[in-house]
Amino acid sequence: MKTNIKNFTIEELKEELKNMGEKPFRAEQIFKWLFSDRVQTFDEMTNLSIDLRKKLDDKYRIGTFEIVRKLESVDGTKKYLFNVQDEDKNLIESVLMSYHHGYTICVSSQIGCKMGCKFCASTGIPFARSLESGEIVEQILAIEKDSNIRISNIVFMGIGEPLDNFDNVMRAIKIINDPKGLNIGARHISISTSGLVPKIYELADSKLQCTLSISLHSSNNKKRSEMMPVNNAYPIEELIEACKYYIKVTNKRISFEYALAKDNNDNLNDAKELVKLLKGMLAHVNLIPINKIEDGAYTKSSNENIIKFRDYLNDAGIVATIRRELGSDIDAACGQLRRQNLK
Ligand code: SAH
Repeated sequence: MKTNIKNFTIEELKEELKNMGEKPFRAEQIFKWLFSDRVQTFDEMTNLSIDLRKKLDDKYRIGTFEIVRKLESVDGTKKYLFNVQDEDKNLIESVLMSYHHGYTICVSSQIGCKMGCKFCASTGIPFARSLESGEIVEQILAIEKDSNIRISNIVFMGIGEPLDNFDNVMRAIKIINDPKGLNIGARHISISTSGLVPKIYELADSKLQCTLSISLHSSNNKKRSEMMPVNNAYPIEELIEACKYYIKVTNKRISFEYALAKDNNDNLNDAKELVKLLKGMLAHVNLIPINKIEDGAYTKSSNENIIKFRDYLNDAGIVATIRRELGSDIDAACGQLRRQNLK
């Protein structure tokens, strides 16, 4: 298969063109055709010579997705199942959410996930591969086209561990940020990680202005390791050290995600431990009522417990909010996205 031309940042595309003996400014024209005009063939790039259009067509393809299924929730959330149109006909899911401040897309970064978190559906089917940068961006292009909207925010909270696909995620963000690309600022992008410590340092040093979310879920190593095997490699102390470094370098607040599971991590002792862990940090806690998944070991805490947990944190000076559950009726809520096979 030819290389997807949407994989390149504008700088990389300039290099590609230089190597073809073309002027680098052509890259800007091509970028605009791809991400502003969103053409599907090289022939439509009418300010390029016919000869160059042919040369591009010989070397690259313009990757697109096919919508296999689209589900709409009672709350307006839409879940898309895409065929990424690779040789293996891999399928991924992405979610469109509507908030009062605009539209947010939850994108996948990998086809499957290696992290093995016990409460998450994304680990159900074996890992296939990481997504290319063009495929990460394509989720946005395809949804904007189908729903006829422009989105304002992007969260890397779909299938996969974004920091396990670091280079392509960074490349996709550059394309999304580029004024000639999707022109969406890094401040409107959140990356969520299960806690790949070395990559958190790398992200901090990249000076990217996006928001970092950490899937914490417990402040106790024993409990967290049971829920998230990644904690065996990078225990809580190391994770928090990395977070402190991130805050120091970027001066940005970190959002800690905490999915509350009944009789597991939702009692006031857990809240107390969490306060001790995060006290004094530039942090915010996002409490998520844990979503039920097939064969999942955990059930949702009661509303009463969730509110008690939040109030305990707030009273202790830790800002905590409860995440609105969107799309759970169509399995589009946190932790419910999964790689699928064509039946
Ligand atoms: N791999 C990344 C991003 C994907 S998960 C990460 O782990 O952060 C996006 C968020 O949904 C994470 O905070 C994740 O822990 C949470 N999540 C996963 N399964 C869930 C479930 N069943 N209920 C609620 N939240 C869940």
